[in-house]
Amino acid sequence: MIRKPIPYGRQSINDDDIQAVISTLRSDYLTQGPKIKEFETKLAEYVGAKYAVAVNNATSGLHLATTVLGVKPGDNVIVTPMTFAASANCVRYCGGEVTFCDIDPETYLMDIDKLRGILRSHPEGTFTGVIIVDFAGYPHNLEEYRKLCDEYGLWLIEDACHAPGAWFTDSKGVKQHSGNGNFADLSIFSFHPVKHIATGEGGMVTTNSPELYERLCHYRTHGITKDPSKLEKCDGGWYYEMQDLGFNYRLTDFQAALGITQLERADKGLRRRQQIAERYDEAFKNIPGIKTPSRRDDIYHAFHLYIIQVPDRKGLYDYLHENGVYAQVHYVPLHLMPYYRQRGNKKGDLPVVEAYYDHCLSLPMYPTLTDEEQDYVIEKVLEFVK
Ligand SMILES: *Cc1c(COP(=O)(O)O)cnc(C)c1O
Repeated sequence: MIRKPIPYGRQSINDDDIQAVISTLRSDYLTQGPKIKEFETKLAEYVGAKYAVAVNNATSGLHLATTVLGVKPGDNVIVTPMTFAASANCVRYCGGEVTFCDIDPETYLMDIDKLRGILRSHPEGTFTGVIIVDFAGYPHNLEEYRKLCDEYGLWLIEDACHAPGAWFTDSKGVKQHSGNGNFADLSIFSFHPVKHIATGEGGMVTTNSPELYERLCHYRTHGITKDPSKLEKCDGGWYYEMQDLGFNYRLTDFQAALGITQLERADKGLRRRQQIAERYDEAFKNIPGIKTPSRRDDIYHAFHLYIIQVPDRKGLYDYLHENGVYAQVHYVPLHLMPYYRQRGNKKGDLPVVEAYYDHCLSLPMYPTLTDEEQDYVIEKVLEFVK
C-alpha cells in the first residue's frame, strides 16, 4: 500500500481562510491596514492580554522583546536549552550573553529549582532576565517564575510559541492563560505553519505594559515617529523622525486576515489535539519502555507536540520514517549547537536535557490527523517497541 506520508505537524487551511485572504488582496491595503489591528485585538482577547503587536515572525518578536527590554552587551540572560534556537538568539542579537538552565525531567520545562540555584550561586546583578518556553504546549506556573524574578529584579519573557490557549491554575485557583500579561513582561507567539495558528510567517507579542507596548510598536517600524508630542522639532505636516535604530518587522494585512479566520478555529483545534493526546496516552499507557507526556488536572496542555521517550529512539525514528511516519526530534539541546559550544558550553553541562534528548520523539499531532492515520502511527510504534 502506498500511503500518504504523515508529518509530525501541519497547518489546516479551509475555504474561509482562502476567502479572507482573497478579499484582503482585493482591498486597499496589503500592509498596515485594518486587518492588522483587528488580528491584534482578537489575539489579545483570546489570550487575555491588554496589548498585542503583530510581527512578521516570532523570531522578530523575540528580537523586539529583548530590544525593548534594553538587552545590551554585558547583560546575561538565563534561557532554557530545550527550545528552538530563536529563544536564545534574541539575546545574542542585542549583544547579551546566554546562560542555560537545565530542565525538569517530567515537564521538560526550565527547572525552577535549578534556576533558583543559579541565581543564588552568582553575585547579585549577574543576570538581567529569564526566557522560559512553554515547551510542547505545557504551560509554566508563571506566578512562581514571576515571584522569583521579582526577588532578583529580573524581567521575564515567556516564549509561548507552543502554547496559545494553554493555562495553569494560580495560587488563588484562577485559570491563567499563557501570554495573558499578568506575570511575564512579554510573551511571544508564532504563526509558522506547524504551530496552532498559521499565517505562513507571522508572530505576535503580548503584554500588559503600556510602556512596553508603545516601544514594541516604535521598534517594529524603524524607530520612526510622526507623533507631534514626541518630535524634537516640526518642519511641517510631512515631518517624521527616526529616533531609535528600529526594524521593519511588520506583518502584512492578508496574513492578518488569515490569522483572524485561523483564530476562530483555534479552540476547536485545541480540543482535537486533546483527543489525539488521549488516544496516544491510552494506546501507550501499559507499554514498558514508552514514557508518555506528563499530565496534570490543574493545567491545560496545548499539545503543540506529543512527545514520547523510548529506549531506542534512533531505531524508532528510522522505522517510522521507513513507514511514512515523519516523526521528529524536538529539539537538539541548544547549548550543544556548535555556535553555543563555541561560546563556552559543552556536553555534560546539563545532564537532564541531554538524557531527554537521547530518548525523545515527537509523534504526529495536528487537528486534521485522522483517527485512521493515528491508528496507523500507533500500530507502527507498537510494532517496533514490542
Ligand atoms: C517556532 C518557534 C519560534 C520561532 O518562530 P518563527 O515564527 O518561525 O520565527 C521561536 N520559539 C519557539 C519555541 C518556536 O517553537
